[in-house]
Amino acid sequence: PLVLGIETSCDETGVGIVRGHTLLADAIASSVDEHARFGGVVPEVASRAHLEAMVPTIQRALKDAGVAASDLDGIAVTAGPGLAGALLVGVSAAKAYAYALGKPLYGVNHLASHICVDQLEHGALPEPTMALLVSGGHSSLLLAPDITTDVRPLGSTIDDAAGEAFDKVARVLGLGFPGGPAIDRQARDGDPGAIRFPRGLTGGRDPIYDFSFSGLKTAVARWVEGKRREGVAVPVADVAASFQEAVVDVLTRKAVRACKDNGVDHLMIGGGVAANSRLRSLAQERCADAGIVLRVPRPGLCTDNGAMVAALGAEMVARGRPASTWDLPADSSLPVTEVSVPGHTH
Ligand code: ATP
Ligand code: MG
Ligand code: FE
Repeated sequence: PLVLGIETSCDETGVGIVRGHTLLADAIASSVDEHARFGGVVPEVASRAHLEAMVPTIQRALKDAGVAASDLDGIAVTAGPGLAGALLVGVSAAKAYAYALGKPLYGVNHLASHICVDQLEHGALPEPTMALLVSGGHSSLLLAPDITTDVRPLGSTIDDAAGEAFDKVARVLGLGFPGGPAIDRQARDGDPGAIRFPRGLTGGRDPIYDFSFSGLKTAVARWVEGKRREGVAVPVADVAASFQEAVVDVLTRKAVRACKDNGVDHLMIGGGVAANSRLRSLAQERCADAGIVLRVPRPGLCTDNGAMVAALGAEMVARGRPASTWDLPADSSLPVTEVSVPGHTH
């Protein structure tokens, strides 16, 4: 099926077009530069930027894909979770296009889209799919018997998301926003064994599949403050590398454990943090040791984009899932278990 997907949950206006598992267009307009001076995404600024970018980005995607809007089999859109005002822009645009074109509308979950996007890279996901979802707002281990209807959390972060920890530690180190890519770059010149930072929830009695990153973030901040008080130069690259190692060590250890415990022989990693180069290499190493096949999309498909929404929409169409009704709401706190949103009145 030929599906157009619209993503506006945060600061990226993304419009992707796919035919089944084939990516035809992935147009993105980002307002990240407008937020940088505030040190984080400002919701009002994001909403207005989406409004300005929405129609041109849809037009660019159609042009890039070389398809006519009338040929589409459906229009998919992120219905949540995300920033309420930002989501509303995408949902409204999707309704308008779908209604005007007489096409079915599919309101889908942003988090399930972060998983489904891998089909564009590596073909059909195995069932059940084991996924480690690590992004700016979420960190979970998910088992999905059916990516269009059935996504089950095995465990999640009990405090900060992994991406949030990257962003906060980057701020402490004065590396700017967003912090993930900056730490990734700095860490390449650092020693990951320089400082032994704590690994959250890895004790014998701790929940096996849950994560905690706020203690780590505090430990890094204390360590850096200590150096500054002593008047000693902070070894930024070593701190970045050691912090990053603590995060990806825990993520990969628990993900491999989840695969083994559940008899699953593959692992999908998705979400913005999956773009991290050390997470990708350590996961590859540990999966290979455990006989697990690793699936991670290319970095550009890990961070927010429209193609991931189109990928899940196409899967919905292919499996004959029902479309959403015209009263589809945007739900800023849509739970990961609700893969699609049928409409307001269902
Ligand atoms: P969610 O998907 O939970 O709603 P989001 O959509 O804001 O959150 P994503 O775009 O999926 O987030 O991911 C953004 C996060 O990924 C940010 O916290 C960013 O710092 C992090 N990130 C991006 N690239 C990297 C990288 N190379 N290394 C580590 N973290 C990264
Ligand atoms: Mg972003
Ligand atoms: Fe995201």
